[in-house]
Amino acid sequence: MPEIERIPKNALFGKYEMGRLLGCGAFAKVYHARNFRTGLSVAIKVINKKRLSSPHLVSNVKREISIMTRLNHPYIVKIYEVLATKTKIYVVMEFVKGGELFAKVALGRFNEDLSRKYFQQLISAVGYCHSRGIFHRDLKPENLLLDDNGNLKVSDFGLSAETDQIRADGMLHTLCGTPAYVAPEILTKKGYDGAKVDVWACGVILFVMHAGYLPFNDPNLMAMYKKIYKGEFKCPKWMSSDTKRFLSRLLDTNPETRITIDEILNNPWFRKGYNEPKFHE
Ligand code: ADP
Ligand code: MG
Repeated sequence: MPEIERIPKNALFGKYEMGRLLGCGAFAKVYHARNFRTGLSVAIKVINKKRLSSPHLVSNVKREISIMTRLNHPYIVKIYEVLATKTKIYVVMEFVKGGELFAKVALGRFNEDLSRKYFQQLISAVGYCHSRGIFHRDLKPENLLLDDNGNLKVSDFGLSAETDQIRADGMLHTLCGTPAYVAPEILTKKGYDGAKVDVWACGVILFVMHAGYLPFNDPNLMAMYKKIYKGEFKCPKWMSSDTKRFLSRLLDTNPETRITIDEILNNPWFRKGYNEPKFHE
């Protein structure tokens, strides 16, 4: 596959002066940039059209842009504008200064209160998406960014789905996600509910933040899937029994009995110190 060439620092693109590379994903490179007319810092996701080698990949990018443009929530990254040249698409977004939650948790696990705070913000954002018929499907600490006020922002809707993709059986069927965060029902390939798989991934994220390691992990992928399928995970001894109980409701292998977003929002563990975000559409 053709690599995306690095954009030189200080190169100008329209009203933007390009800056350092912030991160790389499967299809794009994300750069810091500055609008030299207003001084505003932005992040620009540069997608090389050559890499969009199938209609499926093209529609994923279109969906990502369309969804992110429609969403307006304090804990979801905003898109400012989308520009294109013959060869590239430039998605200009809000710059989230604090980097990935992944990098922060790699430095050490979070205490219960900090884990709960990020989890509350994550659920607020994910619940907002679900109430609009949007499922993220790739929730993981690499796609959760932190701003300089210590708030979380959900990003990367590149694998997200909408209700119009639900088949006649009421299920989504595309196999996607990242192995360690994938819900057991995705592995059975019989179709799944987008809201329930997002709740599972939120459970894995809460576990990772607080325990400091993945609940389901193995160097051998098939062995990892087996653990996920069986719902085999061990909480550290020091974890409070309330947290353990709450995690077992999130990481319930049966999607029918797994806790729902509405139940999470009413759960005492979740509600502790919860400030519902205020925002206007
Ligand atoms: P991909 O779809 O290829 O995974 P992402 O949208 O996840 O691309 O972006 C890749 C990485 O770029 C992220 O993991 C993050 O480190 C960085 N990044 C993305 N968007 C922003 C942003 N708005 N502000 C700061 N960094 C960002
Ligand atoms: Mg990503």
